[in-house]
Amino acid sequence: MREARHKNDEKIYLIPQNLSESEVENHKQIAKKGTFTCPYCEARLIVKSGDILGNCFSHLYGEGANLPNKVRHVTENMKSKRKTIHYDIHKF
Ligand SMILES: [Zn+2]
Repeated sequence: MREARHKNDEKIYLIPQNLSESEVENHKQIAKKGTFTCPYCEARLIVKSGDILGNCFSHLYGEGANLPNKVRHVTENMKSKRKTIHYDIHKF
């Protein structure tokens, strides 16, 4: 996911995609200090960066862990989609 709640000002922060390597590293460092939390389940988020996903936030302790039912949010949906794709591949 691209969005996170920033601890300091409680606002939703969208991670930019045009960060330099050192800026990405900086985001990773402040994320480790607990600066970013999930706007949906309030779990701590870490910063990930890759060629395909770009820069994004990810749950520190696994997606959907200990979530109340009502916050089965975007990451949960992504998870089940991934599962579906996985099964499709195995059919062939
Ligand atoms: Zn969450």
